[in-house]
Amino acid sequence: MDRECLELREKIQDAELVLVGLGEACQYDWNALLQDERYQEIERETGDDERYVWIVPFLQKMILRRGRGERWEKFYHILRKMLEGKNYFIVSLCMDDYLYDAGFDESKVVSPCGGFRRMQCNKNCAGELSDMPEESYEAVLRYYRREIPLTALEEPVCGRCGEKLRFNQLGVERYAQEGYLEQWSHYTKWLQGTVNKKLCILELGAGMAYPGIVRFPFEKVVYYNQKAFLYRVHPQLYQVGEEIADRSLGVAENPIDFLMGLEKL
Ligand SMILES: [Zn+2]
Repeated sequence: MDRECLELREKIQDAELVLVGLGEACQYDWNALLQDERYQEIERETGDDERYVWIVPFLQKMILRRGRGERWEKFYHILRKMLEGKNYFIVSLCMDDYLYDAGFDESKVVSPCGGFRRMQCNKNCAGELSDMPEESYEAVLRYYRREIPLTALEEPVCGRCGEKLRFNQLGVERYAQEGYLEQWSHYTKWLQGTVNKKLCILELGAGMAYPGIVRFPFEKVVYYNQKAFLYRVHPQLYQVGEEIADRSLGVAENPIDFLMGLEKL
């Protein structure tokens, strides 16, 4: 692994442009919430009652706001240091928003799966996003702290049509792509600018959940750009296609551990 890390560092230093893809394996592990005692109690209390399903993402948001923890801090710190002074773009499949608090240039980041930063109407009735109503978040927090009963909670609704208000992320009834499309068009323009340039692609932990966003298009870029090189880091799905075998390397490794390895060198 050390040799691969060393080579990667050289490749990035040498590259004119760096494209990073963050996949599912880089996402916050929701099991931490499931193991939370108070959360288990809440699950028992709400049971199958559909009226209270909406509080779960608010509790997820609460967990995310508590802070990233040392491992994640380090991971993003190393990534940031690695990209310092580079012309880069990051495509992330993560919905935990950690990337947005890690000091990257937001104009160089796109997260097409959405996250917890904005909200939308479940039916996307007007094609617009809204801020999270802090009073709803506060109420869920107070319920979590046992300061108010479950029955005191009221689900926030769309100000236009009265439908459920949801976090702008994949999984809502009609996902509002308005949340990322503008950044996506910046990204595709940036990609056009990589043609015939020395491009280093670092794909970290992207499995087969959304291969049309990260894996396949990355392979295609390397296939057409003879000066591109792809690092595919994934504990299981690290394989690369034969047609780009001479310009890519699959690393069977947890992407977080792999990046940690960079710092030790
Ligand atoms: Zn609506």
